[in-house]
Amino acid sequence: MPRKSVIAIDGPAGAGKSTIAKLLSQELGYRYVDTGAMYRALTWKALRDRVPFHSPEALSSLAKKTKLRFVQKKGVSRMLADGEDVTGRIRTQRVTRLTNTLAAVKGVRQVLRQRQREMGREGGVVMEGRDIGTAVFPQADFKFYLDASPMERALRRYRELKAKNKRVSLDSIAEAIRQRDYKDRTRGISPLKVAPGATVIDTTKMTLHDVFKFILNHVRREGRNGND
Ligand code: C5P
Repeated sequence: MPRKSVIAIDGPAGAGKSTIAKLLSQELGYRYVDTGAMYRALTWKALRDRVPFHSPEALSSLAKKTKLRFVQKKGVSRMLADGEDVTGRIRTQRVTRLTNTLAAVKGVRQVLRQRQREMGREGGVVMEGRDIGTAVFPQADFKFYLDASPMERALRRYRELKAKNKRVSLDSIAEAIRQRDYKDRTRGISPLKVAPGATVIDTTKMTLHDVFKFILNHVRREGRNGND
């Protein structure tokens, strides 16, 4: 039987990567890997253990000794750090704000890149993040780069949080996203950028369902998928 594909989905915050990657993995029967959750889980643990964020050595050593694992519970992907379920705790504003400091450390990225490669070694994986098509799987069977205007991305986050009854302002979300994107795009190691050969999709005026259908059709048309 032919090997199943590796599908890489990159892009800035709020572009719809998670929704699309989850739908796609369900449709194809593939594994879903949210690499952002891995960086967030290490950030959460560094905060808990008071690891100094200004020390690349301390952060790299934390990355080396932390066991990160995804498990499926009731159809939802949960992030475990050293066996502890941190899925909810890694979504706080504090963790979100500090994650890109940790993610700019070379030693941390080396450790996570290696683990992510192992997770996708057999194929049959939809992996989302910032550097999947550029650094983790430059030879991925499919590479997509999702983007949308900064205002549309902020609006999507705003609606998402409002639906969860969170008290938020659109302005502060837009500013937080702007800062996060800037740091992710300008860091020295594996910055966020379009991978060579990636299909760029501007989702500003599309529904996420349309984006999903577009990607699914592309994958089915062009090659190996969950049904081959
Ligand atoms: O995808 P998510 O918004 O949860 O990612 C949180 C942060 O983790 C990003 O802003 C980025 O700094 C970092 N990240 C990364 N490389 C990845 C995935 C996430 O640097 N592949």
